[in-house]
Amino acid sequence: MAGIYIHIPFCERKCIYCDFYSIEDNSLQQKFVSSLIKEIELSDAVWQNEIIETIYFGGGTPSVLSPHKIGTILKAIHNRFNISAEPEVTIEINPGTIIPHYFKEYLSSGINRVSIGVQSFRDQDLQFLSRIHNASEATNTILDARRSGFNNISIDLIYSLPTQTLDNWKEIIRRAVEFNPEHISAYNLTVENQTPLSRMVQSGSVTIPEDDLCAKMFRYAMKYLEECGYIHYEVSNYSLPNMESKHNSNYWMHKPYLGLGPSAHSYRNDLRWWNHRNIGDYLDNIAEGKVPLSGSEHLTPQQTMIEEVMFQLRMGKLDFNHLQNKFKIEMDPSQKLIKDLINDNYIEYKDGIVKLTENGFVFCDEITKRFLNSFSIM
Ligand code: SF4
Repeated sequence: MAGIYIHIPFCERKCIYCDFYSIEDNSLQQKFVSSLIKEIELSDAVWQNEIIETIYFGGGTPSVLSPHKIGTILKAIHNRFNISAEPEVTIEINPGTIIPHYFKEYLSSGINRVSIGVQSFRDQDLQFLSRIHNASEATNTILDARRSGFNNISIDLIYSLPTQTLDNWKEIIRRAVEFNPEHISAYNLTVENQTPLSRMVQSGSVTIPEDDLCAKMFRYAMKYLEECGYIHYEVSNYSLPNMESKHNSNYWMHKPYLGLGPSAHSYRNDLRWWNHRNIGDYLDNIAEGKVPLSGSEHLTPQQTMIEEVMFQLRMGKLDFNHLQNKFKIEMDPSQKLIKDLINDNYIEYKDGIVKLTENGFVFCDEITKRFLNSFSIM
């Protein structure tokens, strides 16, 4: 089983916090789609032996592409790859780019899941993030998706904004739940290098909330969403039962994926490779009949183990039996770390399986470092 990720590198306007590759010049859309279809045709034949169970249009802003263009790309994928009987096919939607009738057309083209970049239901937050939409457009986009027949809707939210109080965040989370989305992603605002936001923070014109407030916001989301029937299946992701994002879960379970489009990454059999980030280089390579490869790396067993520990803990669980069998990891026989983490109420432990407690999720990164420092490969 494998997944396909398609990076659509266009946005109407860059947001101040974003470091994903995208350009504001939408005039290259048609040329890009033609090149993407050539890239699909050029893809290595080994992928034809995989059953593709998820397809994900991310970006950038995939919803700047008309349903016709998305349908053309999907058709090319179906022609080239072996697609499972009921694949999960997701498109990221940005409120402010979408015309209501697009939803029905996306459905007809084979999309069956939408991930809507709501980010907040407060205009003040959206303006701070320099999003192109307002709160009322976010609301209408969710309602339009539902009315059009989508029964798998995910909503993205961001917390720890300088414009937010804890009470604001509580209100945003409650508002999100009122739409009964099947899935909610709640991300902590990250200050990425080389973004306008990082320059604002460095110059002191913006102050990011203290860790303590961020942790309170995280804890509130976790508690409230679980009370409302959502399963916390990854640090930043919650879903109704059986509605987890299959595509993202497959990344976290180290399943193979093929990335298409500028800057897209791929992974298979411990090999990771990535496409040119710049759209000019990407288009030039395809025009010359070449796969637009920019670089690759072969993961050592140590690197693979580190990633598996990180991914597993982000999903709230660490399976020592699996790690010991796969990587021949040596663990401290006295299990001092396990005992310390249990005493601090970060984990529960039984039969070789570590489970993060609510408190453990808050300190997931720290716990991951402590586990990684305690392992050695035999
Ligand atoms: S719309 Fe999304 S991809 Fe585009 S700049 Fe904003 S955050 Fe980045």
